[in-house]
Amino acid sequence: MHMIVVVGGGAGGLELVTRLGRSLGKSRRAEVTLVDSQMTHLWKPLLHEVAAGSLDASGNELDFVAQAKWNHFLFLGTLCNVDRSNRRIRLAAVIDDRGAELIPQRTIDYDTLVLAVGSTTNDFKTPGVAEHCVFLDTPRDAERFRKRLLQHYLAAHSRRSESKIRNEAVNIAIVGAGATGVELAAELRHAAGQFAQYGLDSIAPDDMRIALIDAGPRVLPGLSAKISASAQAALTRIGVTVLTSTMINEKTSEGLVTREGICIQASMKVWAAGIRAPRFLGKIDGLEVNHLGQLRVKTTLQTTHDEDIFAFGDCAACPMNEDNEKNGAATRASRASTG
Ligand SMILES: Cc1cc2nc3c(=O)[nH]c(=O)nc-3n(C[C@H](O)[C@H](O)[C@H](O)COP(=O)(O)OP(=O)(O)OC[C@H]3O[C@@H](n4cnc5c(N)ncnc54)[C@H](O)[C@@H]3O)c2cc1C
Repeated sequence: MHMIVVVGGGAGGLELVTRLGRSLGKSRRAEVTLVDSQMTHLWKPLLHEVAAGSLDASGNELDFVAQAKWNHFLFLGTLCNVDRSNRRIRLAAVIDDRGAELIPQRTIDYDTLVLAVGSTTNDFKTPGVAEHCVFLDTPRDAERFRKRLLQHYLAAHSRRSESKIRNEAVNIAIVGAGATGVELAAELRHAAGQFAQYGLDSIAPDDMRIALIDAGPRVLPGLSAKISASAQAALTRIGVTVLTSTMINEKTSEGLVTREGICIQASMKVWAAGIRAPRFLGKIDGLEVNHLGQLRVKTTLQTTHDEDIFAFGDCAACPMNEDNEKNGAATRASRASTG
């Protein structure tokens, strides 16, 4: 039977493997397998809501084991290597919380391999960023941000109860005004009001000061100038400080330092200034990657040097012809208008 392995059950891979399972898997025309390093899927565009505390991640995750059972595919763990000459992939050992090996490394064969492993935040090697800024790549990152924010509120609350200090402020700087940064800024403004309603009013809603910073001239650069202008106006209206054409060159203990040497002070810093594909893709023997580490694919989504390996989503670089451009713009616009 033809063996199809999809690596990455994110926004793209989960939809694909589910459809393949329902069609080819169910009728036993192919064996369909999903490989993902996590046990559950949370749609990445919800991460800013988890970070702001408006969404409970665990209530919105989809369990891969159950999805596999319902949709006629198999589910296995983390990819660590691709052996193209033998059409085989290697999966990492499964280790439990205490470091004990539950399942050793193993290999599985494929006839068709689809790589949909997504992306991680790109810090562009900016000094201090990896150490001091929060990235929003996974539900765990989002949870960590939410906890830190809550701790700021609780500490301010406790200081006020001890009458040491009156109301305080929290400064949050978000670098990158793409979808992640814009959505996070707006969600945090909403959260500031919610905190006060839950009694955490030692930081007044307006004293959650949010700066959204981008090196480019406008927010949401992937969308039309009209959408970008109205998003920026809406952010300003709700009290977010938008700093465009502002390049951050360094993160120090004081804050974020711009190219002009101005220090933007912030107790919480989020870096959402771009993406790059996971580095291991560049090490797969013979496959071609671009400067962001994304696999180069043809318009068929087959990788340029191996027609049995496909890639799509954030980890792939697809050539854009005129039709692709139009479809891409229409999809982005419809996503933006549906929020
Ligand atoms: C806060 C936020 C808001 C966003 N808002 C928008 C928006 O409004 N509109 C929009 O178009 N986009 C938005 N995006 C971007 C969007 O989420 C991504 O473009 C999309 O998720 C990419 O889908 P994907 O399938 O390529 O990868 P992902 O959805 O990232 O999935 C990748 C999967 O691969 C798995 N994986 C990774 N490495 C391995 C490995 N070695 N072995 C096995 N599995 C692995 C991961 O666990 C994950 O399940 C947003 C992103 C964020 C973070």
